[in-house]
Amino acid sequence: MEKSMAGLKRGLALSTMAMTGAIAAVLAAAPVAAQPTPKEVLGHDVGEDYYLASYEDSVNYFHKLAATTDKMKMVTAGKTTQGRTYEYAIISSPENLAKWDATVAAHKRLATADGLDDAAAKALAKDSLIIVHIDGGLHAAEVSAHQSAMALAYKLVASPNDEEVQKILRNVIVVLWPTLNPDGMTMVVDWYRKQRGTQWETSAMPWLYQDYVGHDNNRDGYMLNMIESQNVFKAEQSYSPTIWYTHHQVAPFPARIWVPPFSDPMSSNISPYMRSWTTAIGVNMMNAFEERQMPGAIAQARFDNWYPGFLDYTHVFRHTISFFTEVAHSSATPKYYDPKKFPRNMQDMKAQVMYPSPWKGGWWHFADSIRYETVASMSVLDTAVRYRDVLLYNRYQAARDTISKGASGEGPYAWVIPGGQADAPEAASLAQKLIQQGVIVNRANAPVTLGGKPYPAGSWVIRMDQPYAGLVQELFERQKYPDAIMGGDGKPVDLPYDVTGWTLPLQFGVIAEPVTAKPAADAYAALTPVAEAREQGGVTGSGSTFLLSRKVNASFFAANEAAKRGAKIALTPDSIVLSGIGADAMAAIAAGSGATATATATAPQATAVKAARVGLYRPWGSNMDEGWTRWLLEQYQYGASSIRNEDMKKGGLSAKYDVIILPDLRGRDSLLNGLKPEDAPAGYTGGIGEEGAIALKKFVAEGGTLVTFNNAADAAIDLFALPVTNIVKNARSDEFFCSGALLQVKLATPSRATAGMPADPVVMFEKGPVFQPARGFKGNVLASYPTEGNPLLSGVLLHPEKLRGRAAALEVEYGKGRVFLYGFRPQWRGQTHGTYKMLFNLLFAYPDQEASTLKVTEEAGYR
Ligand SMILES: [Zn+2]
Repeated sequence: MEKSMAGLKRGLALSTMAMTGAIAAVLAAAPVAAQPTPKEVLGHDVGEDYYLASYEDSVNYFHKLAATTDKMKMVTAGKTTQGRTYEYAIISSPENLAKWDATVAAHKRLATADGLDDAAAKALAKDSLIIVHIDGGLHAAEVSAHQSAMALAYKLVASPNDEEVQKILRNVIVVLWPTLNPDGMTMVVDWYRKQRGTQWETSAMPWLYQDYVGHDNNRDGYMLNMIESQNVFKAEQSYSPTIWYTHHQVAPFPARIWVPPFSDPMSSNISPYMRSWTTAIGVNMMNAFEERQMPGAIAQARFDNWYPGFLDYTHVFRHTISFFTEVAHSSATPKYYDPKKFPRNMQDMKAQVMYPSPWKGGWWHFADSIRYETVASMSVLDTAVRYRDVLLYNRYQAARDTISKGASGEGPYAWVIPGGQADAPEAASLAQKLIQQGVIVNRANAPVTLGGKPYPAGSWVIRMDQPYAGLVQELFERQKYPDAIMGGDGKPVDLPYDVTGWTLPLQFGVIAEPVTAKPAADAYAALTPVAEAREQGGVTGSGSTFLLSRKVNASFFAANEAAKRGAKIALTPDSIVLSGIGADAMAAIAAGSGATATATATAPQATAVKAARVGLYRPWGSNMDEGWTRWLLEQYQYGASSIRNEDMKKGGLSAKYDVIILPDLRGRDSLLNGLKPEDAPAGYTGGIGEEGAIALKKFVAEGGTLVTFNNAADAAIDLFALPVTNIVKNARSDEFFCSGALLQVKLATPSRATAGMPADPVVMFEKGPVFQPARGFKGNVLASYPTEGNPLLSGVLLHPEKLRGRAAALEVEYGKGRVFLYGFRPQWRGQTHGTYKMLFNLLFAYPDQEASTLKVTEEAGYR
C-alpha cells in the first residue's frame, strides 16, 4: 500500500506540474485506489494502546486518504505560531462537494436573513445541503480528541455499504479539522513518546501546549488575540457552518462522556433556537450511546456555558449551534477503574435524569475513548441528516428575530463608542474586535444625533438591527447573574464554572453608550460601514521634541519603538517625552502605533528615564498568566527576558534587570518549590528555592522593582514578610466568592504606577488577594475598593462587604526597592486594556524610587 500510494502521489504531482491532455485522461481513467486505513499509513490503529499520531502524521494520513477518494478535499487555513499550516478536510459526496460554493452562499444568507422573507428562507432551507463543522479539539493534552478525527475521516469516506454514512454523504458537507491546535498536538505527542515506559508516561507536559496561552486557547473567542484564533475564525466565517462541534476531554468522573445540554446560568443574548437544538443534539447522543450499549453519558453537570470567550462557542452568536463533548480518559495508556474508588455519591450506581445509564467501572482503553467520540460525531451528523431543513430554517429565524429585536428597540437600537475619547486608539480597537466577528460597524463622518444625544464625528456606531447583534449586546452590556446566585446568603447552589463578567468597554476603559430612544429616520445618513476600525496616528505640530499622552496605550508602543532607534525618554505626569529622534522616523512610528504625537520646540520639565530591562519569571508547569504577559510585552515591544528557576538561583539579578514581574501563581510554596519530583522528570521540578528567594530579595533591597499579579502578590507578602494581610486568604466560597468579575476601584494618591489612569478604573478580579496594610507598613496604597456600596460592575461577587475600603493595589517599600502588589491581573488574558498602564508605567528605569508618601503604622490606620 505504501508503494502504490507513493506512485499515486507522484502522478498527482506530475498532473499539477505539467498537465497535458494525455496525462489527464490517463489519470481520470485510472481506477481509484482503495482508501488506506490509518494502520496502513501510520503503522498503528487509531486508539491503539500506547500510540499517538502527531499533527504531521495526522495531516499526512488525511492527505493520503484524500488522494484516493473523490469524497474529500483538503483546504489550508493559515499558519500557527510555530509556523505549521492549518489544514482541514471537506467531506461529502462528489456531487455535493461540487456544490460547496452554493452551499456556503446559502448558509451565509440564512445566517444573516439576507434578503429573505419566510417563504424564500423556507425554500432555500429545503434545497440546501447542511454544513457541519467537527474538529479534533484545541486542548492538545486531551489526546483522544485529535486522534479520533482520523477515525472519523476514514469511516466517512470508506464505508460504501454503511447506510448511515451514505445518508450523511447525501445530505451533509462535513468540515473536519484534525485539530485546532497543531503545535500543541505535536508537542504533547512528542512528550508522550519520550516519557512512554517511564514513571512519567501519563504526566502532563510541563509547558504551555499552545504558545503563550496553553489551555486558555479556549478563552480567546471574542478577543482573537492569538494568530490561531484569528485563523480558525477566519475559516469558520468563510464557510459559516450550521453546527459547530468540538471534542474535549475529560468528563466528570466516573461518567464516560459529558454531552449537552449545559447547566444554567446562560446568556439571554443567544437565540433560543440555538439552545433548544443544543439540547436536542445532546439527547440524541445519549440515545445513540444507549443503542450501542455504551453506558456512562452524563449531561448538564459542571459546565455552564455563558462565557462567550470559548473559541468553540462564540459562533453561537452567528447562529451556529455550538457545543462540545468531554470524553473520559485522556491518555493512550490503559487504566483499570475500581468502582469501589468512585466518588462516594456515585458508588450506588443509581440512574439520574441526566446520567441515565451509569458506568460500572473496569478496564478502559484508549480505543474506548475513540469509540465514544466517533459515536458522538456520527450522532451529530445523523441529527443533521434528519432535521436538515428545520435546522437551516431555524437558523434564518434566529437571524430574523435578532434583527427585529434590534429594530424594535427591545434591546438598545444601537451602541455608540463616542469619538474624542482619552484613549482613541483603544476605542477604535474595541470597534475592530466586533468587525473581526462579522459585525457591521459604522463610523460617523459628521456629528450625529442618536436617541436625542449628540455625538461627534469620528464616533463608532453599531446598529443593533443586524443579525449578529446578540454578540454585541453580550460583549457590551454588564453581566447580571440570576438572583438565585446573587442572593449571597449561604452557599449558592451552582457557582459559575468560568469567569462571570467580561463587559468589553469596561475592560478597555472605553466609553460605550446604548441608544435606547428610537433614532430619527435620517439619523443614520452620516454613517459609513467600515472594513477596519483604527486611528491613523501621526505627528501634529512642529519641533524636535515629541509628546505622547500617557492616557493612550499606543504611546507606550511608540515610546519603545522610538527608544530602539535611539530616542531618549522622559516623563511628565501627563506625557511621555521623546527626543533624539527625527521627525520622519517619529511620524512613521506614531502612524504604526495609532498614537498621535505632538511635536514641540520647547521641551517640558520632565524626569529622564530609560526603557527598563524587564525580566518575566517563567516557571515550569504551564503558567498561562506568564504566557499572556509574555505575549502582551512582545506586542508592545518590551523585549523582556524570561527568568527561569536556574537564573533566579544564580543571583546577580540587579546587574541584569530593573524590573522583575511575577505572573499569577499559586502562592509562596508554588514559587519556592514548583513541580514536585513525582509530577515531572528532573529538569522541570522545583521552584526558585531558598537561593532564588534570597536573590530576589536582594534584587529588591538593592533598588529593584518587583511587580506581582494576583496570587503572586500573596506569595510576595509571605516571601518578603511584608506588613500586609490578605484578608480573603483561604476564604471558603460561602464567605467570599469572585471567580472573575469586573470591579470598580478608586485610585488613592497620584503615583508613577497609575499616571494616565482615570480616578476610578475597573479591574478584573479573579480569585485574587485583598489587602490590608498592617503595623509597620511603609509604602503607598495605589488603589482601593470603595468604602460604601458594592464595587461590582459586571459578573458575580458574593459578600462585597468583605472588600469595602480594602486595598486592591499597593506599593511597598523594601530596602531601596519596591514591591508592587496587584490584587488582580492588569493584563488579564490580553483583554483588560484599561489597566495595561498600571503595568507599563512600571516598565521604565527611574533614576530613583519615589519617596513613599504614606506611612501606616496602626493596623486599623487605613481602611
Ligand atoms: Zn478541553
